[in-house]
Amino acid sequence: MKLFDPILGLSAELQQIRRDIHAHPELCYEEHRTADVVAQKLTEWGIPILRGLAVTGVVGIIKKGSSERAIGLRADMDALPMQEVNQFAHASVYPGKMHGCGHDGHTAMLLGAAHYLQQHARFDGTVYLIFQPAEEGGGGARRMMAEGLFEKCPMQAVYGMHNWPGIAQGKFGVCAGPMMASSNEFDVLVEGKGSHAAQPQNSIDPVQVAVQIVQAWQTIISRNKNPLEAAVLSVTQIHAGSATNVIPDDARIGGTVRTFSLEVLDLIEQRMGEVAEHVARAFGATVQFRFKRNYPPLINDAAATAFAVGVMQQMVGAENVDANTEPSMGAEDFAYFLQAKPGCYVFIGNGDAVGAHRAAGHGLGPCNLHNGSYDFNDELLPIGASYWVRLVEAALEPAAA
Ligand SMILES: [Zn+2]
Ligand SMILES: [Zn+2]
Repeated sequence: MKLFDPILGLSAELQQIRRDIHAHPELCYEEHRTADVVAQKLTEWGIPILRGLAVTGVVGIIKKGSSERAIGLRADMDALPMQEVNQFAHASVYPGKMHGCGHDGHTAMLLGAAHYLQQHARFDGTVYLIFQPAEEGGGGARRMMAEGLFEKCPMQAVYGMHNWPGIAQGKFGVCAGPMMASSNEFDVLVEGKGSHAAQPQNSIDPVQVAVQIVQAWQTIISRNKNPLEAAVLSVTQIHAGSATNVIPDDARIGGTVRTFSLEVLDLIEQRMGEVAEHVARAFGATVQFRFKRNYPPLINDAAATAFAVGVMQQMVGAENVDANTEPSMGAEDFAYFLQAKPGCYVFIGNGDAVGAHRAAGHGLGPCNLHNGSYDFNDELLPIGASYWVRLVEAALEPAAA
């Protein structure tokens, strides 16, 4: 593997930064301390910064040479509202908050790249180091765009990276096209008419109607959607009633829909509404149908992906880059950046899900994202940082003299 000596020399400091951020996790739009750490390091290294986009966002700006070319590299900074069960020295000091998705590591890797890019790298153009808040459901990427990220920082392409447990350390995974799903939620209120449970003839039973709707919805997946297009419709909540001898007035159905394209999402949302309304009407009930779209599908640009694959192959060897990795039904708000700019989002292997890399004192659970026993693999810090640097040096290669 071809890593940069100065980055390897910085590994101890990057680990210390990563573990400090891990110990002090902050939730969506509350990443004030984390943003201060990032801003302080960038400033200490002589890198100009732009602060305040999406509350806590920080953008480092490194310009070399005279070219107008520019690319963005993105790390997310936020943690999750969950309890960490690890007991090691860098475990979270805040009850109920945890860096369970490795954004502490993403932030540290991009800081490592920033240091090298500023001090050593040869390139001609501008690199924007985007430290974004609120990836975990808060839409921090979208908000940075809404507050002028791409106007203040004009760039031709943008790149992202996420650690991935289950992919071995030293390997990368990526695919062109859809790589992460759209994430959407629904909340449907079925309004019937309650009665004594022994006198159902006096009721319009919302429980029966809700069950019929849930059953009928699955035919959208099996009968309406092209079977070659992946999609998930999961009903995860049905709430109704308070007593065994009372038919309730209403019932509530909630859940999630995941798709890899907006066309399939349009179809599913429309059909769910039609099915719910017509099934309810058949039984004399009514529905209030609420469908909320969260993150869109993450679509990697084909050319940018081919470019990123080439950079990774040069670094770790072709045998360590899976250019057709299996897409994930998880969602990621980097998708918004990729709706606006061409670019590519990659998985960097975090090691096995057993967590062989974890420090002593880790929890007994698996080392999976969003698990209380998870920890970011510090061995990735120089690997991820080197990938960022190589990407920049290749994308903004100086013209031959
Ligand atoms: Zn996450
Ligand atoms: Zn994440």
